[in-house]
Amino acid sequence: MADRDSARRRQRKLASYHRRVAERRERGLCVKCGKCPPAPQRSICVSCNEKARAAERARADRLRAEGKPVRDPEATRRADRERDRYEFERRAKILSDALAEREYLVGSAFSGADILIGHSCFMATVVGLPIGDYPVLEAYYQRLQQRPAYQRAYPA
Ligand SMILES: [Zn+2]
Repeated sequence: MADRDSARRRQRKLASYHRRVAERRERGLCVKCGKCPPAPQRSICVSCNEKARAAERARADRLRAEGKPVRDPEATRRADRERDRYEFERRAKILSDALAEREYLVGSAFSGADILIGHSCFMATVVGLPIGDYPVLEAYYQRLQQRPAYQRAYPA
């Protein structure tokens, strides 16, 4: 009975948390404090972010003092993979937009920028990022791969 009550209480609290977050997001406010606008590209404000980081540092210091691991290595790897994927998608979209109406990144001629991004595309395929999900970028990368210099630099 007590267990069911506490489970219900937890559910109600969670539902109210989600409502609060959705409402703050809609009003363009920090989802944590609801007082000021969030930092660019973030859902929380600078002040809330600093508080969260300070709390995280205190927690890490306490765990280190107790001789316990600060992070779950598997969770860290998972978070890294998610972040890398997110960053790849963000950049792939920017490049796709830039390359939508031209052959190379800067003007109409091949340049150092294409060498740099060409290598990044190569690395993306090496680590298995889905460059094929971005047809414009994939076509660009294929154009780069046709170049004799590319074939000398990256022999098959
Ligand atoms: Zn805040």
